Amino acid sequence: MSPPENQVSPLAAPVSSVWGVGAERARLLARLDIFTVEDLLLHPPRRYEDRRKFLAIRDLKLGEAATVRGKIIAAGVKRFRRGARAMFECVFDDGTAMLHCRWWQAQPWMEDWFTVGREFLVFGKPDSLKPRNLDHPETELVEPGEDEFIHVNRIVPVHPLTEGLTARVMRSLIWRVLERFENEIREPEWSRFQAEGPRVQGKPGGADVLPKPSTFNLQPSTLPARANAVRMIHFPEELTDVEIARQRLALDEFVALQFQIQSRRKKFEASARALPCAGDNRLMKPFLAQLGFRLTKAQAKVLREIRADLGGAHPMRRLLQGDVGSGKTAVAACSALMALESGFNVALMAPTEILAEQHFRNFSKWFEPLGVKVEMQTGSRKSGEDGGLRMEDGKRAAPSILNSPSSIFVGTHALFTAGFELPKLGLVIIDEQHKFGVAQRETLVRKGNYPHLLVMTATPIPRTLGLTLYGDLDVSVIDEMPDGRGKIKTFVRPTDKLPKVFGFIREKIAGGRQAYIVYPRVEAVDTDTDIKAVKQEFENVRRALAGCQVGLLHGRIKPAEKEQTMAGFRANQIQALVATSLIEVGVDVPNATVMLVENAEHFGLAQLHQLRGRIGRGAHESFCILISGAQHPEARARLEILAATNDGFKIAEADLKLRGPGELLGQQQSGAMRLRFGNLAEDLNLIRQARELAKLHLDFPPAKVS
Ligand code: ADP
Ligand code: MG
Repeated sequence: MSPPENQVSPLAAPVSSVWGVGAERARLLARLDIFTVEDLLLHPPRRYEDRRKFLAIRDLKLGEAATVRGKIIAAGVKRFRRGARAMFECVFDDGTAMLHCRWWQAQPWMEDWFTVGREFLVFGKPDSLKPRNLDHPETELVEPGEDEFIHVNRIVPVHPLTEGLTARVMRSLIWRVLERFENEIREPEWSRFQAEGPRVQGKPGGADVLPKPSTFNLQPSTLPARANAVRMIHFPEELTDVEIARQRLALDEFVALQFQIQSRRKKFEASARALPCAGDNRLMKPFLAQLGFRLTKAQAKVLREIRADLGGAHPMRRLLQGDVGSGKTAVAACSALMALESGFNVALMAPTEILAEQHFRNFSKWFEPLGVKVEMQTGSRKSGEDGGLRMEDGKRAAPSILNSPSSIFVGTHALFTAGFELPKLGLVIIDEQHKFGVAQRETLVRKGNYPHLLVMTATPIPRTLGLTLYGDLDVSVIDEMPDGRGKIKTFVRPTDKLPKVFGFIREKIAGGRQAYIVYPRVEAVDTDTDIKAVKQEFENVRRALAGCQVGLLHGRIKPAEKEQTMAGFRANQIQALVATSLIEVGVDVPNATVMLVENAEHFGLAQLHQLRGRIGRGAHESFCILISGAQHPEARARLEILAATNDGFKIAEADLKLRGPGELLGQQQSGAMRLRFGNLAEDLNLIRQARELAKLHLDFPPAKVS
């Protein structure tokens, strides 16, 4: 029977309540974000050592990590010159051979710690065998004592540590806490859906039969109980136990996360009534007739999904995914028209001023002939004679919007600064969602009378992330590109090929095309001269492309000047644009067919794919050239992924595996989801299960014992 809800779990007790943890140790543990008993129990080991059998020092292999056990036969500080840095050296012997270990920076405590006669476990990779040598090993004193069995003759965990806290102390601490608290580790409530497997089979249709999740990759019976999993993750019997335990604990994390996301959504659906925004095609028809192209099947399909939402009972919460160039803007425009036809206002938010300007221009061109007013609001610019919205004045809406039947507002996040209320707001569209945090999204949709929300992202979110991050959104995917696009060829080249590359760009410009040239930095940093910056390289590019107009674009240029440069580039008065990754989102100039990225190794794959999405937008063949000075074969291999595929989803998955979710999530977002055991890049199946379990738990709440 589960304990009453208001009873505080003993696991919530502070670490200082554990025997052997005083104020000093509590302080060290806090550095590792360990504050409670539970934090300690869920502190995942970073690796394991099989100490059931030690390798003989004689059998060590070059470059292969191993643990040996030996006694110190000599130790001391070595100084090469007077005043030079001191090195500490130590010789271990296990009866088969000797092993020299060195620490390049001797610490004061070493002489007292590594004393002749003491026995140590030594872990590391030998870097030579004649003599046997291993630098900066991890060591652990073998100390006869009653808890020695925790540390040897078994598979032992090595936990993440902090200075002043040894692996041995941490291991003992966790062992002790396990002994004392293992029985207090409860199965989470949702796990009843797992345990029911056999009973469902035995009593089909019985009154107390619980629904069974359908998509298990692990059979429920093979998943250990949570308490077992916690023990197994620290003290596994076999190394294969570790992954089983990890999956169990990861599943718990994912279910908790999904439960949170889904209950938020459920609450929202219960409280919010939708504004009827499905429209009547009055504006859509003439709009599509003058658009100049036919919507792709994928665009049309997505629009049907959106229309169903806009006419539905709950406000739309939809994520629109589409690779760069798939035509999300046209979908946004059609969605906006549905709301406008229904008599509601629309807000369209972009992450940069350049992009907001571009949308403003497009939407004005498309919508003004239909009699729809298009307004603009960014941090630095407002449309309308009297300034349109005046945010400085506090709550004041644009007069024009109040008068006209319905309008669309285009802007940056400045659109939604506190104090601004758009009347009759039916639909909010956020372009390039990944630049905004979840928190920002939340504040946005609370504005107005629960408007419909469409978030569009060009960064293909891998499914795992989609299910966790955007679990509260429905997802539509544009999985098809418009016809008639020129091919993009991608090359990875070393720095010494630059002169040739610039020759190629001159050729393309002479043929009437345009180019982007991107650098990682705005300004050079003295300490890191290898990384190029736009400000310094601008002159070099001008020289290399003598006779062409070269524009400069980066975040520190004034907005008016930026817009002027973009206008020049659009009109082909500027042929080459030197820029930072500022241009990675949304910019649409079909005549630009070359994307040159220098120091390409400094960008994420997904980001490079975004940059590449700036070209290949017209009918001409396009070229993406990634220059990398990186010697590292891994860096090269990473860039070659881009050369091999143009499929944004494949690239995003690869990036997620290589770099972790931080890059894709943005800082705020990754901070919000600290997973100790779950891995967003690998655990798609677990996340699917978690989603289902969370839904069952939400739909069939546990019976309350009265
Ligand atoms: P993204 O999805 O990256 O935002 P855009 O909306 O900027 O892509 O569209 C890229 C280009 O494709 C634009 O120039 C746009 O006019 C064009 N486009 C969009 N839909 C179609 C279509 N159905 N047929 C042909 N061209 C299209
Ligand atoms: Mg776009």
